[in-house]
Amino acid sequence: MNSKRFAVIGNPINHSLSPIIHQAFAQKTGMTIAYEKLLGSLEGFEQDVHHFFISGGQGLNVTLPFKNRAFSMADCVSERARIAKAANVLFYKEGLLHADNTDGIGLVRDLSDNIGLDLTGIKVVILGAGGATCGILHPLLTAGVSEITVLNRDKKKRKELSLHFKDVRFLSLDDKISPAYDLIIHATSAGYQDKTPLTLPADLWRANPLCYDLSYKTGCDETHFVQLAQEKNLRAYDGLGMLIEQAAEAFVIWNEVPRDELSTRSIRCLLGQDLMTLS
Ligand code: NDP
Repeated sequence: MNSKRFAVIGNPINHSLSPIIHQAFAQKTGMTIAYEKLLGSLEGFEQDVHHFFISGGQGLNVTLPFKNRAFSMADCVSERARIAKAANVLFYKEGLLHADNTDGIGLVRDLSDNIGLDLTGIKVVILGAGGATCGILHPLLTAGVSEITVLNRDKKKRKELSLHFKDVRFLSLDDKISPAYDLIIHATSAGYQDKTPLTLPADLWRANPLCYDLSYKTGCDETHFVQLAQEKNLRAYDGLGMLIEQAAEAFVIWNEVPRDELSTRSIRCLLGQDLMTLS
């Protein structure tokens, strides 16, 4: 029997650890799958997606910068993708292209179950307002955070998103922010396609917050944002835990296996060893 075929599409895509994670879930559940990385074309992302499914693909993860476009091209969207207007999971069912968003639940699980942070009543600052941020806003509010401020460079995007996410404050990276917040989430893609150095607000670290970087290390060195936070003696985590948790949710959607069959902790140990050998 042919194995099921999955992939992650993004641009750039080389850094993605999704194939290793999905293969580990497949091994755990006794399945044989193929999972590849696809470099999406900035002009022709939609054609790339159609080509993948026409040629027998069963599920596609979508990463930067395509999450909003993945949402827009779907015939059916889940409630969480609809609220985010962004999708990181695509699949066909009964002839229709379905989109879902598992980023938010992935982050909330990592913060609360793995890191042990009580999200109730905390104040959050998020740097960046791309597809990933759109996916995490509503799940964070639902998990009980009391306030979210998003700082983003592009004014037009801030304005558009503030009309859609009415409970969230959108400011520029130069605006003054109240220091009384508990968690900073770094969600820009600075350093990937956009090589402009990320300029952070001068008083960003003043409140001694817990720091979380959605980017994750792909070798031994910590991410740039985690290094900056650690230099200030702050507790800082990268997004590897979120990546594994959001992947587990996608694996469950595509393969209809029980969620509790996927131990994300053991995958994290496995990945830790892989990263040592990759670096
Ligand atoms: P998008 O391309 O959709 O958005 C990128 C965001 O980064 C925009 O807000 C953009 O601002 C901002 N940005 C880029 N370069 C700069 C810069 N030089 N200075 C200031 N702001 C900048 O990307 P995503 O939202 O999909 O992904 C963001 C990051 O999160 C990526 O690193 C991705 O790998 C990571 N991620 C990790 C996940 C995980 O599971 N750990 C899941 C999802 C994402 P502007 O609007 O002004 O251009």
